[in-house]
Amino acid sequence: MSETHRDQYLIREEPYYRTVEDEVRLYEAAYAARMPVMLKGPTGCGKSRFVEYMAWRLERPLITVACNEDMTASDLVGRFLLDADGTRWQDGPLTVAARIGAICYLDEVVEARQDTTVVIHPLTDHRRCLPLEKKGELVEAHPDFQIVISYNPGYQSLMKDLKQSTKQRFGALDFSYPGAAIEAEIVAHEGGIERDQADRLVQVAQRSRNLKGHGLDEGMSTRLLVYAAQLMAKGIEPRAAAQMALVRPLTDDPDMRDTLDAAVDTYF
Ligand code: ADP
Repeated sequence: MSETHRDQYLIREEPYYRTVEDEVRLYEAAYAARMPVMLKGPTGCGKSRFVEYMAWRLERPLITVACNEDMTASDLVGRFLLDADGTRWQDGPLTVAARIGAICYLDEVVEARQDTTVVIHPLTDHRRCLPLEKKGELVEAHPDFQIVISYNPGYQSLMKDLKQSTKQRFGALDFSYPGAAIEAEIVAHEGGIERDQADRLVQVAQRSRNLKGHGLDEGMSTRLLVYAAQLMAKGIEPRAAAQMALVRPLTDDPDMRDTLDAAVDTYF
């Protein structure tokens, strides 16, 4: 595999990542052992940003796959394509990652069907290999290869959960929304607004998070707070920014909207 092929997946600039606890040290140790890692936490709390940061820090290419329920094993592993010269094998992202020694990040893996998820099993134990059954090839994972998955424990139902036989192949790091001071620091930095405005946005979010399970599936994520901040940085009044970026995306229920709008009005 050519170097250029590997190079295109390298992260050139340091991603902004605000360390929350000792996740960097723990991940580095897990990577050193090539342990598969599961990042658990709600959407928009910094899991993807963390993987980008770690890939940059470790100088490893990063291949990210957004999982969904229509995804098949072939989408991960690869397939034969028809072209003018006949059939040609094309590696899927998991195979590319195993060959070039990338960190392969399967985002929201629980969305994929279980028969898709099992293709990662031989890569996550001592075998560290990937059988390409259709092609009749056994790919030995490059020594630098590592698999990372994200998983939102709030979402899964009995129908949609990872099998124990999948879960128990990973070390897991818990991610949740950072404490108020750190979250405000992130929002101010990412959104380009003053710290006291960021503090207020975080207060609104914390109110919404208390409503989780009481009419809301999820509270406002750090990602949405960054969106609100970005609108404010473009000159949108805080209330309008908060409605567009924080309240409207979260719920269609008129009563819940009123409740959240009232929370916004308390702080802005
Ligand atoms: P997830 O993968 O958990 O859904 P992301 O990693 O995409 O969420 O995070 C959403 C956004 O929140 C990021 O784009 C970033 O702006 C911000 N963010 C969240 N946590 C952090 C953090 N610890 N350091 C820097 N940015 C963060």
